[in-house]
Amino acid sequence: MCIENIKSSLEKIAFQKTIPFCYQCYKEAPTGTCKTCMSDDLMRLLPEFGCEYGTEWVVEELLKEELETVDTEEIFEQVIEECYEETTKIGFMEFSTVELMKNNDPIYWSMAQSEYVDGLAQDEQLISFDNGSNYYWIHDLESYIEENLEEAA
Ligand SMILES: [Zn+2]
Repeated sequence: MCIENIKSSLEKIAFQKTIPFCYQCYKEAPTGTCKTCMSDDLMRLLPEFGCEYGTEWVVEELLKEELETVDTEEIFEQVIEECYEETTKIGFMEFSTVELMKNNDPIYWSMAQSEYVDGLAQDEQLISFDNGSNYYWIHDLESYIEENLEEAA
């Protein structure tokens, strides 16, 4: 599934899980037009969360609730441990390679980490909806979509 496809599927789910809501009259308007004021300028109401315009926030809330974000620090550490030895010997002492690298050059380490994460995002394995604060695995999103998207009847 391509990124655009995932985004539009998530948007569809956000629509399906919310109810049009007239903020002026403070009531639901399931038909898409408020029966009281005839307005179609409606918010989306996500039961138990609240209401707001648009669906972007709904997608964020749903994912926060249903999926785990990726611990990018952990996956980078694992990759380094797989590429290099888990421990490194200096003199007669043996240290954790990851800790050694991190402690000696934390700036270089975090640059390398974000480069690695960017690479995963470019390969369409990871995706972020908030400019890189939180990442999700694409395959997690795909199963979420499969389980939650109701095909239009
Ligand atoms: Zn109204």
